Order: sequence, then structure tokens, then C-alpha cells
Amino acid sequence: MERILFLGLCAFSSFASLACDFSTVKFEHDFAAARLDECKQLNDSTYQLTLIPENTPINDSPWYAFKVVADKPADIKVVMKVEDGTHRYPPKISQDGHNWQLQKYRLRKNKMSFHLKVNEKPTWISAQEILTNEQYYHWGKHLAQQQHISQEVLGESTQKRPIYKIETKGESKDWLVILGRQHPPEITGALAIFPFTETLLSDSKLAQKFRKQFNVLVIPNLNPDGVQLGNWRHNANGIDLNRSWKNFDQIESKIVDDYLTSLVNNKQKMRMAVDFHSTKKDIFYTMPSDYGMQQPYLVETWLNSLDKAYPDFKVIQQPGNNPGKGVFKQYFTDKYKAHAITYEMGDNTDRRFIHTLAVSAANTLMTTLLESDPVTGK
Ligand SMILES: [Zn+2]
Repeated sequence: MERILFLGLCAFSSFASLACDFSTVKFEHDFAAARLDECKQLNDSTYQLTLIPENTPINDSPWYAFKVVADKPADIKVVMKVEDGTHRYPPKISQDGHNWQLQKYRLRKNKMSFHLKVNEKPTWISAQEILTNEQYYHWGKHLAQQQHISQEVLGESTQKRPIYKIETKGESKDWLVILGRQHPPEITGALAIFPFTETLLSDSKLAQKFRKQFNVLVIPNLNPDGVQLGNWRHNANGIDLNRSWKNFDQIESKIVDDYLTSLVNNKQKMRMAVDFHSTKKDIFYTMPSDYGMQQPYLVETWLNSLDKAYPDFKVIQQPGNNPGKGVFKQYFTDKYKAHAITYEMGDNTDRRFIHTLAVSAANTLMTTLLESDPVTGK
């Protein structure tokens, strides 16, 4: 048996990087959100892929996304290693880059391996479903076909990619702020932000009534560079954006802070923010009710009513206060004395349930906010 045959040519996380080309099998990573750092052929049918973070130290969220193409039908084995970390995401497989299934795999000593039947048609492998900047743009454009909704560029990222805001503004001065994708691989949070936003912006009686009393600002994709590059966590400067809401030395958080400041300077009022993420389990990180927000029990009331709607599902509320860390939730509450939560969906939570829960979460939030009274604090 032949030993190490070739070391594939892989440039560091660049969109225009070369494919990991071997004699009969190619690992392509020249598309949006693709990521593959090093490839090596170990024998006739086994390929070793190494995942390398954009920089360190970093949260352990190795992202990968690539296509496999073969000259002729072949059975291959893929072994995936992680440099400076451990695997977080079980592999997903797709034939079109849109419809995904879990791929069977083995995990031993932090090496993840799986077998693939490949041929001349690309087989997609990815850490989670792929959601590109372009998909966000088209989603926002579709929403903005409704008269009361706009999608506009809020500003540009470090690498000059547009960061969009979707907005609906009525007569009211009160704002609900929705934020997403600070961390590129956190796809389940993204899968929640779509139905959550669509419910707030829908034509339901509740949503129409809500939008008379609340304006909605949605910034669904704050880190388009990280998304494009397939980063594990950071923006193009190697910074965790959810630690940058303190010094505002990253353009991505600065443009949001500038915009919220300009609204408040125009006598607008920040009432609540929801920031979507993913982690190991479904959990809602809240601010402690005794922290000094104007309506101390608003979020607790909301999440309790969401919990009641799902007898088989526990809505976990985890109050926390992390001053000085530069987390969005903390920044929003400290600056505007209003509630903010981090809405975390589990990496492996059932995708249909993510959708169902997000719709209920949006409906219960609207009801809670409409029933609340900022003057009496109830
Ligand atoms: Zn996150």
C-alpha cells in the first residue's frame, strides 16, 4: 500500500484558495462559508483533513465546509483532526448545499472519521447547515417587499462587506433590537432568528398591533467576514465580536452602537434586545431581575409564558451579570437600562422544534411587551 502520497495545496481560509487536489479525489473549498485548512492522502482511499482556527486563543468551535468530487465512483474514508481544539459539530452531508442530513461518523481520540461514496457530482460536507451572506441578503430583500419593512446597509465590516439592518418604524418611540451571527458557526441560533423575525413582521393581528407600539430593528448577520471565511468564532481581525461591546474598537459592534446612540439621541427608547447564538443546549441567558432594569420581571414573565406553552420542554433561564467583558447583552442593559437576553439554541436541537419554539417565543414576547407598562414598571 502506498503511504503518504501528496500534501494537498490549501491556502489559509481564503475564498480564492486552491482545492485540496489529489490524483482522483478533490476536496473543494472555494465557495462562500467553505473552510478546510490542510489535506493529506494517507493511502489509496483515506484522506486526512486538519481543521485550524483563524487564530488563538479561541472558543472550541471547529468549522468545516467542503465539497468532495471524484473522477469516477469511489469509496473513501475521511479522517478529520483539529489543531488546538476538539470537535464540536457532527458532520452533515448534502448533495446540493441546501438539504442536509446527519452523516454517520466515528469519534476516537478527537479524530472524527466517516466513509463516503463519492463520484463526479459534488458531495457537500459541513459542520452545520451552510448559511451564507447572500442568503441573509435575499431573506431581508424578500421581507422588505412588504411596505412597512425596509432593508438597508447599516455599515461595512472590516473587509468591507455590507452589514444590513431590517427595520420597521411606526409612530412609537420604543425599540426592540434583534441581533444575530456574531459567531459564524452558530447556525442553530440563525435558524431561530429567521422564524422569530418573520413572526414579528408578519400580518397577524398580534404582530400588527405590536408594531403600532414597537419599532423593530433586526441586524441578523453582524459578522459577514467570519461567515464568508468559515471562521470558528472571530471577525476578520481575529476578535470575538461578543467581547467587543466595551471598547468598540471593532467596526462591526461600533456601527451598531453608533446607530442605537443616534436613535436615542433622537428621543427614541431602547426597550429590549435579543441576541441569537448556539451552544451545547437550549438556554436563555438573561440579566438578573434585581439588576436595575426599568421593568425588572419583563423577561421572566415572557420566558415563563413560553415555558408554559411547552409542557415537554423546559425553558431554562440563566440570569447572569458579566461586567467588563464586552458582551452585547451586558452592554445593552448597562447603557439603556433595558432587558437583553442571549437566546441560545443547542447545536443538535431538532430543526423543526427550533422553528416552532422561535415562532412561540416571538408571539409570547409581543404579548408580554404589549401587556407591560413601562410607567408602572410592571
Ligand atoms: Zn455565540
